[in-house]
Amino acid sequence: MLKKQYAVIGLGRFGSSVAAYLTGMGYEVLAVDDNEERVQDIVHQVTHAVSADSTDEEAMKALGIRNFDVVVVAIGQDIQASIMTTLIVKELGVPHIVVKAQNDMHGKVLSKIGADKVVFPERDMGLRVAHHLISPNILEHIELSGDFSIVEMKAPPAFVNKNLKQLDFRAKFGCNVLAVKRGEDMDIAPRADAPLLQGDVLVIVGKNERLMKLEQTYA
Ligand code: ADP
Repeated sequence: MLKKQYAVIGLGRFGSSVAAYLTGMGYEVLAVDDNEERVQDIVHQVTHAVSADSTDEEAMKALGIRNFDVVVVAIGQDIQASIMTTLIVKELGVPHIVVKAQNDMHGKVLSKIGADKVVFPERDMGLRVAHHLISPNILEHIELSGDFSIVEMKAPPAFVNKNLKQLDFRAKFGCNVLAVKRGEDMDIAPRADAPLLQGDVLVIVGKNERLMKLEQTYA
């Protein structure tokens, strides 16, 4: 199977780290910015880096943007340029478009004009940091939908040397333990009768309200 080809437009902090990471993972990446200095800064970290104005449809056609599987529009400050770029890339027929939004209204407009995924990196990172401050035992939080999430939680002292059966985990907390991480090992089918040890990390799936209760009880 052919590897997906990515284009990243806008090489600020967000766009350049997306572009460099994808290249590092072995994908072909075209990085685009209208600022020549930004292009020069990344030229050795991506497959191709070019200077172009992404609000210029002809320039985008000339770059063959329509041939990319995924285009990431990472223009943050200039909301007008972000919207115009998204529209052009959509009209050129790119199958999957991911766009960084500055705020809710910007995000709404992007979804309306056909962005397949809208991301809010600053807001999401702020929420994660705040969440971690409130619940230091929660190492990771992945939202699956508006109602459900997966969290990684350090086994609180009350869990140590007890097993899931003794803890009556499912009935008491209304959540499911998907896996238990122990050091470098990951048990993806944890047995109900295996005792949890200090330092274990539980990977738990559940309804947000139940997870919140669990977190608050063992924060
Ligand atoms: P971050 O917050 O991730 O650093 P910025 O908004 O500061 O994001 O950076 C966005 C980048 O997008 C800048 O490097 C800027 O030069 C680039 N950019 C803005 N408008 C255009 C455009 N019309 N065409 C191409 N690149 C653009």
